[in-house]
Amino acid sequence: MEIHTFPIARPDETLYSVAARIRLANAAKNDRDACRSLFGLWPNMRVSDFPVHLPHFCAATQNIFGDPPTVLQDTTMALFFERIGCPPWRKGSRPDPIDHAGYGLATLSNGSTGRWRICQRCMKNDLASHATSIWRRAHHLPTSFVCPIHGSLLTIAMPSHLELGKRFVLPEQTIGLTAIGGKELTSNQMDLVRLTTLGIDVLEDRHPPATTGTNRSALFSGLANRGLLTATGKLRRVQFVEEINHRYGFLARHPDYAAALSSKGIDILQRNLLHPEGPLSAVHNLLLIDWLFGTWEAFQQRCMWETTMNDFTPFDGTLQQNAIRDHHRQTCLDFISAESVATRSRFFRAAPTSLRWLLRYDEDWFNSCLPIMRKRRAQSKLF
Ligand SMILES: [Zn+2]
Repeated sequence: MEIHTFPIARPDETLYSVAARIRLANAAKNDRDACRSLFGLWPNMRVSDFPVHLPHFCAATQNIFGDPPTVLQDTTMALFFERIGCPPWRKGSRPDPIDHAGYGLATLSNGSTGRWRICQRCMKNDLASHATSIWRRAHHLPTSFVCPIHGSLLTIAMPSHLELGKRFVLPEQTIGLTAIGGKELTSNQMDLVRLTTLGIDVLEDRHPPATTGTNRSALFSGLANRGLLTATGKLRRVQFVEEINHRYGFLARHPDYAAALSSKGIDILQRNLLHPEGPLSAVHNLLLIDWLFGTWEAFQQRCMWETTMNDFTPFDGTLQQNAIRDHHRQTCLDFISAESVATRSRFFRAAPTSLRWLLRYDEDWFNSCLPIMRKRRAQSKLF
């Protein structure tokens, strides 16, 4: 595709949408060919999953949409997930910078290959003003239920898998629109607006993201304020499950929340909460922030307080560290009671993380509980 015409990027438009409109304005053999011109000479790929190389995109578009960091910030979900955790793209052990790591176009734009949402009124206004409509990031956040402009419930668009692979699809070209959620959602309009606002505040935040440790410490302070921690810093599991189910039960049947709010999902959440580097999903993180702090701003203030007051070293000398220590000790005790011959080498195979943690931070207890077994030398002579 030879690019002669550039559309004007509209506020909050996704990278996928910008690419689709560039394709619309220029002649190309097909949409995959257009993708190669915009994002690099990757082998034959699906359009919606096309690997994104932003330096190539910016060179091809003569930096009209900005340099790679600007495009990444203004048209993708990259910084949103950097703040809230657990991006939908998998990073390798030595990941390339996100702007040229080759993550999929729809994943970077919408946060998921299967998430396509429309506000009918936005689409109508777009068509009246520009004859084409656009995809917006604010409609595709994990907690987006209503349009931030019109306040109306978003609609789920379901372009076919085949179609998304072959060509770009703009909102007016989709069929099979269904309203998001059912009765449970419409009777909780206030909650939906609040959750949507929370997601957008995260998206629009321009401060440097806090560390995982600071975020976790702030969440624990919120849990403590709700009486959900014991005096030794352990999570009151039963009360925690009751509270979260009571508060977000109306989302339990929503496809984006069913797994996170299932008993298994909440169990994973509790386990990861107690682990210093345990990854919290974006949905879990957002629900906890909404529940414990109400707004992104209040949560950020708490993070700042944690950073200032603690000179933060993750889990060092805090209640959380006790919870982690208890977790690893219990893992060790469970192993000893289950094994007829409990040795360190077997414990390493059964729970390597706990073994490493105990050796590093709790060596005296570990030595007394599971001492190193030394082979007795064979007695070579009687006396
Ligand atoms: Zn709208």
